Amino acid sequence: MSPVNDASLFGPNWGRISLSIKERAAWRCECRGECGQAHEGGRCQHRQGDSPEGRRRPVILTVHHINGLPWDHHPGNLLALCEGCHNHMDMPMRQAHAKQTRERGKGLRPLFEVIHEHQP
Ligand SMILES: [Zn+2]
Ligand SMILES: [Zn+2]
Repeated sequence: MSPVNDASLFGPNWGRISLSIKERAAWRCECRGECGQAHEGGRCQHRQGDSPEGRRRPVILTVHHINGLPWDHHPGNLLALCEGCHNHMDMPMRQAHAKQTRERGKGLRPLFEVIHEHQP
């Protein structure tokens, strides 16, 4: 289990907010190529609970913060993504966060670790 208390980073309403984003997405990945991968039909075909070929476990949607700020829950800043897209999406962001966090020197863990653990 994750040792991170989601409420401390994502706020007490995160569960409700992330659910509303997944419902907005009709439980399908909202990526339209933002992750840098080309998707058939223009949008990622992965839906929550799907078991695409070559995967060991069903798709689980996670909610991505476009601007990288986990406390910014504006709907325009949130995208429901499958893990495949989310992992691609976070790559440049993770590096930026790790750098920012180091530079702030507050002794915080890099955000990418926390976000990663937040994924189910
Ligand atoms: Zn996807
Ligand atoms: Zn994608």
